[in-house]
Amino acid sequence: MFIRAILFDLDETLYDERMSVKIALEKASAHAAARFNSINRAQLERIYLEEANKRWEAFEEEIRMKGRGAQQDPLRVREMCFAQALAACGAPPSFSPELTRFYGDQRRGCHLLFQDSKETLEQLRSQAFIALVSNGGSAYQREKLKATGIEHLFHVVIISEESGYSKPQKGIFEKALRECCVPAHEAVMVGDNLEKDILGAKIVGLRGVLICRNGDRPKFGAGQPRPEAILHSLGELQKTLTTFAGKKS
Ligand SMILES: [Mg+2]
Repeated sequence: MFIRAILFDLDETLYDERMSVKIALEKASAHAAARFNSINRAQLERIYLEEANKRWEAFEEEIRMKGRGAQQDPLRVREMCFAQALAACGAPPSFSPELTRFYGDQRRGCHLLFQDSKETLEQLRSQAFIALVSNGGSAYQREKLKATGIEHLFHVVIISEESGYSKPQKGIFEKALRECCVPAHEAVMVGDNLEKDILGAKIVGLRGVLICRNGDRPKFGAGQPRPEAILHSLGELQKTLTTFAGKKS
């Protein structure tokens, strides 16, 4: 059995979201602190990140509930996070639109892939369909693909805001498989999030490859399905695919 399609998550799998956010956010907090004395930069950054975690999850949840009828504007998500952080730091939330623009400019200036991402995609695309299956706002995710020079390496790109499905919903994986014209048992999903990437994929019969870039051993709950493989870098993926090829699904 050959693997004919490989589905990849984007953030923290191919793209270093954490580092890109950290660099841009440090510049944004410096920009805000230069304007308002009351701002404690560490506090502003912490509250922004807490808000972003909550609000992006709510953004995805709305897609799961309403599909393409979801109404949240990704730019507004960032604005609301900065408004909340500014207010908590005693600065006017009305500065949020300017700060959001500044932060967006910084993000555009520091899009970062992991070292092994581009080479892996280049190698694998000659042997299988390569699909991106990513949660997130369309404009932000596509900006990352373009800026890092990997957009052309995907045969199929599925983003939750565009598709009306959000991981771990099975519809998003089914759509990727349909567009690749490959059945689930001849495909794998590679991602860093056990619940969203791996469990979601397994529901539709895909093999799950969990990537743990920090080297940690993931903790599994009792009775929770396990990924078929756990990797610490994408450099190990080719070997894993070869072992899959020798086994029945
Ligand atoms: Mg991810």
